[in-house]
Amino acid sequence: MAMTEVHLRDALDTLKSTGVRITPQRHAILEFIIQSMSHPTADDIYKALESKFPSMSVATVYNNLRVFREAGLVKELTYGDSSSRFDFSTNDHYHMICNSCGKIVDFHYPGLDEVEHLASHLTGFDVSSHRMEIYGVCPDCKEQATKVQ
Ligand SMILES: [Zn+2]
Ligand SMILES: [Zn+2]
Repeated sequence: MAMTEVHLRDALDTLKSTGVRITPQRHAILEFIIQSMSHPTADDIYKALESKFPSMSVATVYNNLRVFREAGLVKELTYGDSSSRFDFSTNDHYHMICNSCGKIVDFHYPGLDEVEHLASHLTGFDVSSHRMEIYGVCPDCKEQATKVQ
């Protein structure tokens, strides 16, 4: 079984166990987030699925994303005034973000537990989570830049 299917099946089980009804739309949105490596916005998800679900609105997508977030299946990444991006919460990974096109790429690295412990120790906070992002220029944008010159 492909990783995507395993993730999808586990996610659907989690929803069922929390009493959330699995509608065809929920199924499709969840599947899209799991398959997509692009960290889509609610609008991206809406555009990808609107032909399949003509009665669906962007608000429906948002409502479903909220349900998934509350069930711990999806992480919302906020960026100031620009639209939130949504990410399937699998094992810990971090994000590389392109300054030029805004693309977000996952990379795996062991969770920075030591940093959390140290931060907690130094400040007396109870740590709930952390967020680390690395910024740069992606290979596509680098190539684009050399073509232009
Ligand atoms: Zn780029
Ligand atoms: Zn990610």
